[in-house]
Amino acid sequence: MKVNRWTTGRRCVQILMLLLLATPAFGWTFFEGNLGAAAIVGLQLSDPLAALQILLLTGTLTATMLSGTAIVVVFYGLFGGRVFCGWVCPVHLITDLVDLLPWPKRLSSWSLEWKTTALIVTVIMTVILGIPVFETVSPIGTTARALTFGVSSSLIIIVLIVIAELVLVRRVWCRSLCPLGGFYYQLGRFSPLVVAYDTAKCSHCGECRRVCFVPEVLAPSLKSQRNMVHSGECTRCGACVGICPEKALGFALRNPFER
Ligand code: SF4
Ligand code: SF4
Repeated sequence: MKVNRWTTGRRCVQILMLLLLATPAFGWTFFEGNLGAAAIVGLQLSDPLAALQILLLTGTLTATMLSGTAIVVVFYGLFGGRVFCGWVCPVHLITDLVDLLPWPKRLSSWSLEWKTTALIVTVIMTVILGIPVFETVSPIGTTARALTFGVSSSLIIIVLIVIAELVLVRRVWCRSLCPLGGFYYQLGRFSPLVVAYDTAKCSHCGECRRVCFVPEVLAPSLKSQRNMVHSGECTRCGACVGICPEKALGFALRNPFER
């Protein structure tokens, strides 16, 4: 079996992120916090959705949180919003591994568009309920806390996601439901880093679509309408780039305002 160097590299980064989240449990102090708000060797970083919920609830953000959010937005804005999903998020790693299990056909597929709806619902419910809704139930925060403080009953949400992905819909959480994925999807629509497609080299073997967890983002390019993947859904995971036998796919920069 061919080794996909991009997938191997991404697994290494995902595992390093898990180890980073677990370092406070060993008493190490160069990383503090979680994926909502963290300090890495003193550099403050904030999850934009967490910051938005705090802003909605308190009407203000500290300068530290504002600058930490700006750093994160600029970074993911440049590299492709959902690069967070593909390379950093611990839930994406869990669902990547679930996806590798041999399993009969799922019952249905859900719309990619629902993530944006989930994002809007999260914002509205935060205002109505007066609590940071996503931070309260987030499987991302739950997984991060489990790595630091140990297993708790709140991990039931991860169990429910795994069951739903095995029985109901393939990759349902990351494809259709995650509000943070919805935020990074919007950000990724304007990212300069994209997957470029060389129609002349393509033999239409379909390998790229087989390995992509959102194969529909490749469809317009494979139909030769476009020479790059424009969708903000792309996680820049590189799986398609690494698998393509004809080297028809690769990373490239584009003018982010060109539609
Ligand atoms: S893997 Fe490469 S050759 Fe095969 S369909 Fe995709 S782009 Fe074309
Ligand atoms: S299009 Fe390629 S880089 Fe983007 S998510 Fe699919 S496999 Fe990953």
